[in-house]
Amino acid sequence: MSNLATDILIIGGGVIGACGALYLTRAGREVTLVERGELCGEASRGNACWVAAGHSLPTAAPGVLGQGMRWLLDSGSPFHIKPRPSLDLARWLWRFRAACAQEQMMESARSLLELNRTSLALFRELAAEPGLDFGFTEDGVLHLHLSDKYRQAGEKQAALLRGIGVEARSLDRAGLEKVEPNLRAGIESGIFYPEHAHLDPVKLVEALAAQAEAEGATILTRTAVTGFGQESGRIRTVRTAQGTFAPREVVLAAGAWSSLWARELGAPILMQPAKGYSVTVKRRTAQQGPTRCLSVDDYKVAVTPLDAARFRFSSTLELAGFDPSINPKRLRVNRDALQAVLPDMESLDAEEPWSGYRPLTPDSLPYIGRSEQIGNLIFATGHGMLGITQGPITGKLVAEIVTGDAPTADLSPLRPERYA
Ligand SMILES: Cc1cc2nc3c(=O)[nH]c(=O)nc-3n(C[C@H](O)[C@H](O)[C@H](O)COP(=O)(O)OP(=O)(O)OC[C@H]3O[C@@H](n4cnc5c(N)ncnc54)[C@H](O)[C@@H]3O)c2cc1C
Repeated sequence: MSNLATDILIIGGGVIGACGALYLTRAGREVTLVERGELCGEASRGNACWVAAGHSLPTAAPGVLGQGMRWLLDSGSPFHIKPRPSLDLARWLWRFRAACAQEQMMESARSLLELNRTSLALFRELAAEPGLDFGFTEDGVLHLHLSDKYRQAGEKQAALLRGIGVEARSLDRAGLEKVEPNLRAGIESGIFYPEHAHLDPVKLVEALAAQAEAEGATILTRTAVTGFGQESGRIRTVRTAQGTFAPREVVLAAGAWSSLWARELGAPILMQPAKGYSVTVKRRTAQQGPTRCLSVDDYKVAVTPLDAARFRFSSTLELAGFDPSINPKRLRVNRDALQAVLPDMESLDAEEPWSGYRPLTPDSLPYIGRSEQIGNLIFATGHGMLGITQGPITGKLVAEIVTGDAPTADLSPLRPERYA
């Protein structure tokens, strides 16, 4: 059987693959996207749904690793590292440690802010297109602090962010009530970040993929990539469940699994699957749940008003490899966080808890760019906590890399093989 020809083959049907398909198709390329399951079946599905443009600090920050070590043995903590003999994990942690230095954190924050803001602007354009309805709502995020310790930490973060041009409004009780009328009594301080939106990620990915298809792309679900044929530093063939492709260029957008394929291709990248949990709740009354996005900083829990009928709470960053199990202790802590800030949270009409893997790099910056090892491989992965936020800008950058147009954002900090 002859190989299936395509100009660009995108591997992965999450938010990054779908955005890549749309922007590449609009750049006049012939695109085929292959997804091993259904569209939006992994990290892009059950996340917190935030387009977090303003609060752009990376995961690596001074004190985080020390806190993580203190939490090492507490499986109910929001940041948990499962001790295991893994050279990849050891190398990742070593680089993460370096990224925790104040100066490096702020450098990453500036790059994240540029990406996040540009992406927010692209979301506005997409949401204005007829037929692209994905529940895009721009109404900010409120960070809540229940203890002095977290109020001080929150103010410190806000000061750093204001220093790079982010608007952060410190609020007292009266100010909080104006932003979120549903809050429990006794919460006296918080910080409101207006540059923030939320959306329905499943609708987003499905709408973008359908639009790309309508404009000429081919979207193949249940089409797992199973291997590659290489020759003279280039990918010649990509084997899939539906046949073998002979693409001119390959975009690797396989989320947390990208590092496995990168290694197989001989272009390794440092990335860890960082597991997080979420629970989606059906509102019993219109008043139950939040009216806008909340971050309960003391518990590191995000709460999102999905729509009039549902809300979601999510949290946890577990470096435990590919292990989908859900820790009931951590779920209880998440529920405690909800009960601490919102009334009527004792009994919830909740769906099964969900877990997904963030593709996390040591410095929280994604890997976007052409491989230095393999001429026709483009990385679009490693978006960690911000893959939904950075979907559109990633799709646009990938299209610019392919066409050779000037990139909309600085690609140098995003160099894929920066830890090779
Ligand atoms: C609890 C939680 C909360 C989060 N909250 C937010 C948030 O509020 N805002 C935000 O911006 N980000 C958030 N994130 C992060 C965000 O969800 C991810 O960064 C983003 O979804 C990654 O998208 P992706 O397309 O790279 O990966 P994925 O969505 O994981 O997609 C990768 C796809 O590749 C496919 N694939 C893998 N291997 C193969 C193969 N061999 N062949 C074919 N296909 C393959 C997979 O099946 C998958 O569908 C959160 C994550 C979690 C876990």
